[in-house]
Amino acid sequence: MSFFEDNADLRFYVERAIPWNEIFEAMAYRGRERAFANVDEASEFYRQVAGTLGELAAKELAPRVARIDREGARLENGEVTDSPELVKAFEAFRAADLHRMCLPAELGGLEVPLIVYFLGGEMIARADVSAMTHYSFHGGMGLAMVAYSIQEGTTEFREGGGFVTTRFRGYVDEIARGAAWGSMDITEPNAGSDMAQLRTKAEQDADGTWRITGQKIFITSGHGKYHFVVARTEEAARADDPFAGLGGLSMFLAKAYDDLPNGQRQRHVVIERLEEKLGHHGSATCALRFESTPAELIGKRGEGFRYMLMLMNNARVGVGFEGIGLAEAAMRMARAYAEERRTMGKPIARHEMIADYLDEMEIDILALRALAVTAAVHEELGQKREVMERHGGLEGAARAELAKKVRHHKRAARRLTPLLKYAATEKAVEIARRNMQIHGGVGYTREYGAEKLMRDALVMPVYEGTSQIQALMAMKDTLTGIMKRPRAFARKIAEARLAQMTSRDPLERRVAKLASISLSAQQFLLARTAKDKLKSLSDAPVSTWARALTKDWDPKRDFALAMLHAERLIRILADEAMAEILFEQSKKFPERRELCERWLERAEIRSRMLHEEITTTGDRLLAKLAKESASAASTLKDAAE
Ligand SMILES: Cc1cc2nc3c(=O)[nH]c(=O)nc-3n(C[C@H](O)[C@H](O)[C@H](O)COP(=O)(O)OP(=O)(O)OC[C@H]3O[C@@H](n4cnc5c(N)ncnc54)[C@H](O)[C@@H]3O)c2cc1C
Repeated sequence: MSFFEDNADLRFYVERAIPWNEIFEAMAYRGRERAFANVDEASEFYRQVAGTLGELAAKELAPRVARIDREGARLENGEVTDSPELVKAFEAFRAADLHRMCLPAELGGLEVPLIVYFLGGEMIARADVSAMTHYSFHGGMGLAMVAYSIQEGTTEFREGGGFVTTRFRGYVDEIARGAAWGSMDITEPNAGSDMAQLRTKAEQDADGTWRITGQKIFITSGHGKYHFVVARTEEAARADDPFAGLGGLSMFLAKAYDDLPNGQRQRHVVIERLEEKLGHHGSATCALRFESTPAELIGKRGEGFRYMLMLMNNARVGVGFEGIGLAEAAMRMARAYAEERRTMGKPIARHEMIADYLDEMEIDILALRALAVTAAVHEELGQKREVMERHGGLEGAARAELAKKVRHHKRAARRLTPLLKYAATEKAVEIARRNMQIHGGVGYTREYGAEKLMRDALVMPVYEGTSQIQALMAMKDTLTGIMKRPRAFARKIAEARLAQMTSRDPLERRVAKLASISLSAQQFLLARTAKDKLKSLSDAPVSTWARALTKDWDPKRDFALAMLHAERLIRILADEAMAEILFEQSKKFPERRELCERWLERAEIRSRMLHEEITTTGDRLLAKLAKESASAASTLKDAAE
């Protein structure tokens, strides 16, 4: 049994669709002896690693999941103990050397591309998403340390390529051996989505050591040794600037404890509490206290938000794959039960409504995986080619060409990542819920595990940036992108119309039609935003208009309608992106044409409905909100007087 071998779609990507050539070439910057003679040898090895991950997920983790879910983690005498079954499963991952799989060879790694790690994430999450969350804070942390060190310029590169050493080498070694893991400490009691409110402080003492003081909550794998901590080092320059708060944050690496030669553990970070959660029981979620905890500054003061985003972009792609893994588990469970359970003379899988559910689950997962793989490949090529561009010894036109490719990958990854995080995690919830429904009464009991998938799925649209935050990001990027490049937007509209009317391929006409619906929704929101902005300027002096229209955009005030419809917009954007990707695939692999048709059958109707909602609703609620804020402002004014 292997979660790789039994999944034809995963094998399609690994064996045929992932551009191994490009990824392999993007790793050539190190200019050292290559581990593989050519890309065929390398991709054969990558396939083996994917196979190993699939086997371990199916054989070592999946059989233990019910016990891991029952036992969970425990906090005793200030230390957290993981479920013994989880520890055994992790021992198998460690023995297969998987915590070092993506690290560079210079650091004892296996140089496996990130995309294999992400696909492994899907397979492990298919067994248990909470175990996957914990797993991601092992090798993923080591990789983040290397990436941060390269970014801040403390990784030393050899003349002509190849790197010599990196800042956190000792920690990375420990993680690669499976002797330690880490965590990402951002959230605080009064600061989750609103990171500008973070209050944990870092100050330098007389000898220059940074010390962190404050409380962090909801920290996944917070019982680990190495903590990336976002803390405030600067006070906001101006209280009314919504971004000043983010500019005052810096990134740190803090060691939570030292194990002393006498066998005692000396803690620098206190574990105050383990959260009692609805699900996700294999993953310890900790509340932590920092009391003058020594820490190392990463990058420069004030760059904390930027460094956090670097890690979070990767993590969001990872969570997208995890959502797909959980959805795959729910779909398979639903299908098996629907085939076995009979009502009114036939298996419930043959009842039309249930057949429709199963059909939709399947096409949703296939489309999401296409989106996820595309986003991940752009993310990986963007990162690797950037390092090659900066440190590969290239000059002139070759370097400029590579820089152009880096910009292309980064733009694509930035566009697709929130769509993936949003769509995959929301679908995981929907599919888990339908799986429960298909199970009828037993779905509500523990017998089949359908309720466990539901409990585990519900957290996915919350962590690593909620669905609403993904929607706001996608909306803001889309609309400001149009404002910056209006001609490119007009060209897109014209191209979509032309393809819709003149393409000989009916599938291309349908994909273009979907793009037109999406572009029309974007145009509507932008036009309304501009109209409202002009209206707000009617009482302002004309001399201030130029600045107000080009520079002074306040997202909270000027984008009200767009914010109201941001979730509808992200759903259209995700549907459009998946149609586009499946269509591109179908040109190369004609047997996938049917998938694109099946996807469009549902996405077209959904997008038309969302477009209708965006263009016809919202004014009543906005008027009510405006009235409420006006009355709150006047109450404040009265109180001040
Ligand atoms: C199991 C688990 C593991 C976690 N792991 C980690 C971790 O490892 N490290 C870490 O730092 N954090 C972690 N978190 C915290 C998580 O990232 C936050 O819970 C999340 O960012 C939301 O923050 P919040 O809970 O403060 O909710 P809030 O920010 O208070 O949001 C509440 C609701 O309001 C919505 N909302 C907020 N602002 C807006 C807006 N402007 N427009 C529209 N809607 C809005 C949100 O989408 C949400 O639905 C974890 C949480 C859980 C539950």
